[in-house]
Amino acid sequence: METFQQHVIDPAICIRCNTCEDTCPIDAVSHDSRNYVVDPEICNACGACISPCPTGAIDNWRAVVRDAAYSLEEQFSWDDLPEENPAIADVTPVHDAGDDEGVTIQTVDTARGAAIPPRSAATPTTNLYGIKRPAEATVVGNYRLTGADTESDVRHIVLDFASLPFPVLEGQSIGVIPPGMDPSGRPHHARQYSIASPRNGERPGYNNLSLTVKRVVAGADGNATDGICSNYLCDLEKGAVVKVIGPFGASFLMPDEPLSPLLMICTGTGSAPMRAMTERRRRLHHPDDENRLMLFFGARTPEELPYFGPLKKLPTRFIDVNLAFSRVPGEPKRYVQDALMERISDVAQLLADPGTHVYVCGLRGMEDGVISALSAAAEAGALDWPSLHADMKREGRIHFETY
Ligand code: NAP
Repeated sequence: METFQQHVIDPAICIRCNTCEDTCPIDAVSHDSRNYVVDPEICNACGACISPCPTGAIDNWRAVVRDAAYSLEEQFSWDDLPEENPAIADVTPVHDAGDDEGVTIQTVDTARGAAIPPRSAATPTTNLYGIKRPAEATVVGNYRLTGADTESDVRHIVLDFASLPFPVLEGQSIGVIPPGMDPSGRPHHARQYSIASPRNGERPGYNNLSLTVKRVVAGADGNATDGICSNYLCDLEKGAVVKVIGPFGASFLMPDEPLSPLLMICTGTGSAPMRAMTERRRRLHHPDDENRLMLFFGARTPEELPYFGPLKKLPTRFIDVNLAFSRVPGEPKRYVQDALMERISDVAQLLADPGTHVYVCGLRGMEDGVISALSAAAEAGALDWPSLHADMKREGRIHFETY
């Protein structure tokens, strides 16, 4: 009887962020409207998907008889992982990424960002609250960030945890569980949102945090459809109670060196973690410090750029802000990568500094353009981009969070 450790994803923790499916080098991960699953016929247990997963849902293994591995249909039907079968588990070696049944698997590192945090990052708390025991937070603020006459309804939502411990770091995210059931009659799964406030609270010293949430009114195909969780959050009144899981994320974290340069590149609501990091630095900032924060921020128009007003008030000595607007009537389309190219020599200078950390957050589509611009900037600064990029990944100095 041949047994092996089958790679499975815990549906009770998974926040359906698609990172595993994107990371898997051999397309073993897929999903339906509910669950992410691993094909036992394809998965070679290479472990490439393990560290990028923000929740740890991906790092689950069940000892099974080879001929009776859990099928995709079974995995799609799960709300929880099946129990271990002790009779099989006792005789099956535990999983060890990179060494599957004695065969060493070579994985090609195709990831654009580091799987590890900056070396000096504070230690994050993760998975303190799960689906079975979510935290409860009270809405203490819900403000529209975008112009009233614009299509985008982007909200700054403040959640307060009162005396409940909910420790977070800049760059982490939480999951929000919308009330109600999905079409299959099961509770909605949690949706992930980046935290937009620094570790010591939206308001310093308060046990609260903020989110940047855009009301979803169209699906990926452009057809009208209301996003379940975004509409729930955007409509919340002060005093409402929200079920929250997390915190999540252990790599998209900032260095705990108050003067290390940060190059932040974001689009739309991808600005959430950049706001958290900028605010953290602003609270630590001494006016005599040479602060090397550089931000590239893209939105359709100034009215649709979240945090436009407060951003414009920050002194240039503190942060070098570069905005790129794509839909201003009468002006050519401009993306963050165009703005990066316009500042190529300053970007090159930052890249040459071994203390610089790069963060990219927002639309998945921006990745190619941003990487090309960073590579061009490196070249302009006589730096070898492939080796610099590899060093930055090894040192936890370049991070992507795109959807
Ligand atoms: P959006 O308003 O649709 O777009 C923001 C800007 O990015 C627009 O100017 C857009 O230009 C531009 N853009 C489009 N394609 C681009 C490309 N290939 N390269 C560079 N720029 C491009 O953005 P959004 O709706 O706010 O979406 C933000 C993304 O961030 C979502 O995917 C969201 O999942 C993700 N995110 C959100 C959070 C959160 O906590 N809420 C956290 C992390 C990430 P045009 O549309 O005019 O072409």
